[in-house]
Parts: sequence; structure tokens; C-alpha cells
Amino acid sequence: MIPVQISVKENNCMFVKWSDDTETEIQLSHLRRFCPCAICASQEENHHHDSIKVFTNEQLKIIDIKIVGNYAVSVHWGDKHNTGIYDFNYLKKISGF
Ligand SMILES: [Zn+2]
Repeated sequence: MIPVQISVKENNCMFVKWSDDTETEIQLSHLRRFCPCAICASQEENHHHDSIKVFTNEQLKIIDIKIVGNYAVSVHWGDKHNTGIYDFNYLKKISGF
């Protein structure tokens, strides 16, 4: 399954329309929290599951979204963090909240 449309909405959600005609919305704070890059993944491990990570406005602002190959999207955040590559399956999985 692949995204046919991706946009950032004013309610701080990323909207994705998928090739099977389903639509998902994911909170940017959720998207950032589940950033799959090595740096964020190791930070996440050090956190207790009952704690909430608090992000700055810059960290929750999307500057750019790029399609990587034909399997993933990379998100460029306002704090210049751009190492997170969300493959489509992962993106769909974390969108269901
Ligand atoms: Zn990251």
C-alpha cells in the first residue's frame, strides 16, 4: 500500500490518503514521538512508558516531506531533524491512533 496524497493540516495532523482509498490522520506530536531514526529510538528506550515526551514548537513543525524510493517518506522537522525514514507500513501502523 502506498500513499497517494500527503498533506499537513492546520490541526497539527498529517493527513494521508492511501492507494486502497483509506484515509488516515496522525498527530504531529505522535509522528515525532515515533520517529524511527536511531537517535530517537535510543531516546525512547530510556524513557518510561508512562512518561510523555514534550516537544518544542520547532520540533513539531514539518518543513518538508519527501518520498524515499518507493517505500517510505522522510520528514524534515523545524529543528532540522531529518533522519527519520517512515516506511509506508510503519506510517500506516502508527496512524491508527
Ligand atoms: Zn528521529
